[in-house]
Amino acid sequence: MEPVKGGNLATPPASVEKILKDAEPDSSCASWAVRFAADLDGVITVLSGMSNLEQMRDNLSYMKDFKHLTPEQKKVIEKASIELAKLPIIPCTTCNYCAKVCPMDIGISASFASMNMYTLYGNLGLAKHNEDWNVAGQGHKRANECIKCGACEAACPQHIKIRDELEKVAKVLL
Ligand code: SF4
Ligand code: SF4
Repeated sequence: MEPVKGGNLATPPASVEKILKDAEPDSSCASWAVRFAADLDGVITVLSGMSNLEQMRDNLSYMKDFKHLTPEQKKVIEKASIELAKLPIIPCTTCNYCAKVCPMDIGISASFASMNMYTLYGNLGLAKHNEDWNVAGQGHKRANECIKCGACEAACPQHIKIRDELEKVAKVLL
């Protein structure tokens, strides 16, 4: 499930996208993620969410007659993943499982999206604006109102240290 990490790997940071596009200009970034999952030993099904016809056509173009990754393609993925790991983004997929258990209704995923926006693009004003909308527009509580109960971390499939990350959000964006 979630080979494209909730869509995040479909539009990776520019430096990662460049590696993938240099290797195969006509392949979508999402296709690399889905093919990586399909190529793993023991995998017989890859569940990839699609939200429009174009995405379905793209998925079908390489999964209808799936061919295992070549050693060269595996090297491209390794290079891209090393590049991606250099960027300190929070690996949140916006599944919002954490939101269902948070007693304070902290806008966790939206706060992380704002923080990632700042990390990737360096636009502090826009990131703060996003964070304000998370609170004023969506009615969530601010990151600094977290009571550190830890319920969210037990529910997070990405094993994110949510309490620590919220502290950083509060420091940078509030
Ligand atoms: S640790 Fe904070 S964000 Fe997580 S569930 Fe508790 S109050 Fe909510
Ligand atoms: S459970 Fe984890 S991955 Fe899902 S929205 Fe919350 S922080 Fe993000």
